[in-house]
Amino acid sequence: MQKTLTINYQEYSSAQELNAKDRELMEAARKATETSYSPYSKFRVGAAVRLGDGEIVTGSNQENLAYPSGLCAERVALFTASVRAGEKCVVETLAIAAIDSNGRVAEASPCGACRQVMIEQEQRQGKPLRTLVALGDGRVREYNSVADLLPFVFAAEF
Ligand SMILES: [Zn+2]
Repeated sequence: MQKTLTINYQEYSSAQELNAKDRELMEAARKATETSYSPYSKFRVGAAVRLGDGEIVTGSNQENLAYPSGLCAERVALFTASVRAGEKCVVETLAIAAIDSNGRVAEASPCGACRQVMIEQEQRQGKPLRTLVALGDGRVREYNSVADLLPFVFAAEF
């Protein structure tokens, strides 16, 4: 039987259309690109998460000569948030921004491994984790739940 999957998201024509809290978070993600260590890809990614208590935690991509040893901005931010807030960590929103090797704003869609970590955070906190992705042309894409970014998620019983 053929089935169809629908993914929900919103797009804003610019960050100026976001509310003040989301604009602040997206600006924190953009600013975090300045802390990127990316001598190999020269693709600077910044991520910022807003915790349940309003605190903003940022991360940026950290590369390594031994490639798999590096880590994406999203996971640096989410793991730092977890360290900061502990077991009861609640992430309301994750914003991601990227600058390419030519210094231009680039699409900052999260990779598959980060989506897996994002959805586990969402499941762990029992409430939706919103995601704001800066696109290359200034638009911003918003997902209200990580479930829309990672359907048919890996799930194992322990
Ligand atoms: Zn990633």
